[in-house]
Amino acid sequence: MIPSEAVGLYIHVPFCRRRCHFCAFYLEIARLDRIARFQSALLQEIALHTQQDFLNGRLLQSIYFGGGTPTSLPTEYLTTILKRIRATWPTSPTAEITVEAHPSTVSFEGLSALAKAGFNRISLGAESMKDQDFAAIGRFGLVRDTATAVHESRSAGFQNINLDVMYGLPGQSLHDWTDTVESLLAHRPTHVSCYALTVEEDTRLAQDIARKVVAPPDEALQVEMESAAEHILASAGFARYEISNYAKPGSACRHNLLYWTGGEYLGLGPSAQSYLAGTRFGKMADLESYVERLNDDRLPIVDQTTLSILERQRDALVFGLRLLRGVPRLTSRAAERDHQVDTLLNQGLLDSDHDRLWLTPLGRRYADTVAETLF
Ligand code: SF4
Repeated sequence: MIPSEAVGLYIHVPFCRRRCHFCAFYLEIARLDRIARFQSALLQEIALHTQQDFLNGRLLQSIYFGGGTPTSLPTEYLTTILKRIRATWPTSPTAEITVEAHPSTVSFEGLSALAKAGFNRISLGAESMKDQDFAAIGRFGLVRDTATAVHESRSAGFQNINLDVMYGLPGQSLHDWTDTVESLLAHRPTHVSCYALTVEEDTRLAQDIARKVVAPPDEALQVEMESAAEHILASAGFARYEISNYAKPGSACRHNLLYWTGGEYLGLGPSAQSYLAGTRFGKMADLESYVERLNDDRLPIVDQTTLSILERQRDALVFGLRLLRGVPRLTSRAAERDHQVDTLLNQGLLDSDHDRLWLTPLGRRYADTVAETLF
């Protein structure tokens, strides 16, 4: 359980060696000069937050370095940033401290230094356990890099290891996918995230589909793949706790649970989002503007919105429904969304009993439609 006062910190590291064909995140191609500018701007951002402590002295329960590829940064940059964070904000001795990593960008020495600095969870972007899938999505690296990265992470001291994988990749059969899920289990992760490939606007994948070079994802096949993964992972002792996430007992991602349970978090880095005291705000989603603003001793805050009580209740409903356990039935009444909920119940996208509301398997597949209806 996440205590109600739980607060987390998210650090967005906007660099990758190259952009995967499906990826629409804000990022820059990793170059040492950009990385150095980012590093000093981020340290300045932390310093400015020290003067304006948005967290009011509360203990950080989670720290999450995401991206992009945080391990595009030299290891000593990551350890310096973490050290600065812990010197700035009180951090729970049991805080979950995660670093996302591309398996081809880590080494045993680097992983050991990260573990020694206090990182205790690693999330490796495996994407697939078949090399043939990587070419289709423009991802660099080999499956054997993932195997090595998991082995070295464990040897370096990481016990809490997540593997991200994707299904519905171009040319991927149901058999290829079940092979991927079974192969990743051989690496004994504590957490697995399975994401359906989606086609985002302005990506290379969208262009390739428009030019008919690549077939669009087959939704019916993705449904079969999702069920197959759930079955295989359940047999291996993983509980599905969110639409895309499965965990061994006690290993659900505490940081991501903050997002789905109305918890508070402060985001640092270009494009990072925050939610504190009922206010949502972002940081500038452009490295140069972000750096410039911080060089000017100003926080790069944009898009600040304070939510009304009703909007907070609506968010509790929409985000809470992503969890398999759903939300208390009263949440829809508090959010004044009973009418929309009735429609979704009639469409078979939601189910309920006296106490709770939850997404049906169909609702999980059309979770974005459910969210749009409730917003
Ligand atoms: S490694 Fe991740 S963040 Fe980077 S381009 Fe690929 S999908 Fe996007």
